Amino acid sequence: MKNKLLISALVIINFFFFANQTFPWGDKGHKLISKKSVLFLPASMKAYSKWADYLEEHAPDPDNRKKDDKTEAPKHFIDIDFYKEFLAGKMIENEDSLITEYGEKEVVKQGLLPWATEETYKNLVQAFKDHNKAKALKYAADLGHYVADGHQPMHTVLNYNGQLTNQKGVHARYEINMVDDHLKELEDSFDPQPVTLVKNPQQFIFNYIYDANTVCCVLMEADSIAYKETNSRRSNAYYDLMWFRTKYITEIQFNNAAKDFAALLYTAWMNGGKPSFNKMK
Ligand SMILES: [Zn+2]
Repeated sequence: MKNKLLISALVIINFFFFANQTFPWGDKGHKLISKKSVLFLPASMKAYSKWADYLEEHAPDPDNRKKDDKTEAPKHFIDIDFYKEFLAGKMIENEDSLITEYGEKEVVKQGLLPWATEETYKNLVQAFKDHNKAKALKYAADLGHYVADGHQPMHTVLNYNGQLTNQKGVHARYEINMVDDHLKELEDSFDPQPVTLVKNPQQFIFNYIYDANTVCCVLMEADSIAYKETNSRRSNAYYDLMWFRTKYITEIQFNNAAKDFAALLYTAWMNGGKPSFNKMK
């Protein structure tokens, strides 16, 4: 990431003007995705499944850092439909090029999720090369978090909390209240298949973010319909209807988050020299 000091200063200056910054998948959602991810590792990396407990426990760490580290918040989202290039199907994916076009302040304000994910991936590759277990575990846990955020549709959209369409609060209603009530069903819905090498991590990361952005309208429509049918946004009837209309897409997003995290974990390990599990110390 270019010029971290400048970014830090801008983050502090803009702290109160950020858009999509205060929302995590709930801790439970993050933990579930990270725990399940090791089931997607191919046979050659299976020994690393022993990291599952650590990855699960530390999945929420990046959210918890936000209160102490003011540079952390923009790493958890990108309001990608802010950019006219994205709307035209030609997103500027290079961070420096985007900053040249929009200025650093605006790019930070709209969120840094794809580049924070990529940077964490690169740090993980280096940790594998160095056989540094403590760092590899930390970066792997962080990577799992950022990949999961990139699969939460509302972390990829300007209308991240329904504030533009009179649906305020939809973010937490969906990702915490509803998801937490259906964790068992989500847990049973994973379908682990061994992942393969990711050829271009940056493109891979942007692709799942584009995908998540398209899912957003399903969630917003579900919220509208559930409200219209039940005349409430708090009742059990509202949440039952919300789940009925979004469970399939939510299961897909959870499964894909675990799968895509595993693919990046596996790719980092391969590009880090495939260290055997016992070599990491
Ligand atoms: Zn987050």
